[in-house]
Amino acid sequence: MEALIPERLEKIKEEIRAVCEDCGRDAASVRLLPVSKRKPASLIQAAYDAGERGFGENHVQEICEKCEVLPRDIAWHMIGHLQRNKVRQVIDKAVLIHSLDSLRLASEINREAEKRNIIVHVLLEVNVGREESKSGFLPEELLQAAREISALPNLRTDGLMTVAPSAEDPEQVRPVFRQLRELGEQITAEGLPRMEMKELSMGMSDDFAVAIQEGATIIRVGTAIFGPRNYQNK
Ligand SMILES: *Cc1c(COP(=O)(O)O)cnc(C)c1O
Repeated sequence: MEALIPERLEKIKEEIRAVCEDCGRDAASVRLLPVSKRKPASLIQAAYDAGERGFGENHVQEICEKCEVLPRDIAWHMIGHLQRNKVRQVIDKAVLIHSLDSLRLASEINREAEKRNIIVHVLLEVNVGREESKSGFLPEELLQAAREISALPNLRTDGLMTVAPSAEDPEQVRPVFRQLRELGEQITAEGLPRMEMKELSMGMSDDFAVAIQEGATIIRVGTAIFGPRNYQNK
C-alpha cells in the first residue's frame, strides 16, 4: 500500500495541472491537501517521504496521536466538526481550522487563543447544499456570522470551506462550488477586519476537478491518495 502513494500523488498533481491549464489558472494557486483520517501513520509517512508536508484530519484525537509519532514539520489541518470542549487540545496543533461552523465555536477558539496569546487561522464552513447531516453556516446566515467573527481579535479568517453533497456526476455539484466562491466575494465586499477571502477549501476525490474550475485554492483529497477508508476498525 505504501508503495502506491507516490504515484497516486503524482497522478493527482498531473490532473490538477491539466485542469488548471484548461481553465486558465496557475497550478500553483491550487494546493493539494491529502486527507489522512483513519489512515495509519505508515501511509502518512509514505506521503511525507514523497514530499507532502500538510495533512487533513477530522478528529482531534487523531491529530494528537499522529503528531506524536510523525515528523514535527507536518502542518495539520482540522477539517472535521470541532466540538467546543476539544478546542483546547487542537488549537496549538492545527495550522488551519477549516471547519469553523458556529459563533459559539468561534468565541471558544478566540477565548483559548487569547489565553495563550496566539492568533488562530480559520475558514468558515458553509453548508451550501443545506444537508441536515452536515454542519456549517447556511448561506443566508453567513454574512452576519462573518461580521460577528471579524470582531474576535485572536481569529484570522482566511476564507471559506464547504463539503459538497455526494453526487453521481460531479457536474451536479458545480453550483455548490460556484455559490461558495460568490459568498466569498460578498464577504470581501464588506471589507471586514481580520478577514481575507484568499482560500476556498472545496473539492474532494470525486469532484476536485470541478471545484478547481470554480476557484478552489485547497482541495482535500483522501481516498484517491490513501485508498478507501475502513469504518469498522479504524
Ligand atoms: C474525508 C474528507 C475529505 C476527503 O474525502 P475523499 O472523498 O476521501 O477524498 C475531504 N473533506 C472532508 C471534510 C472530509 O471529512
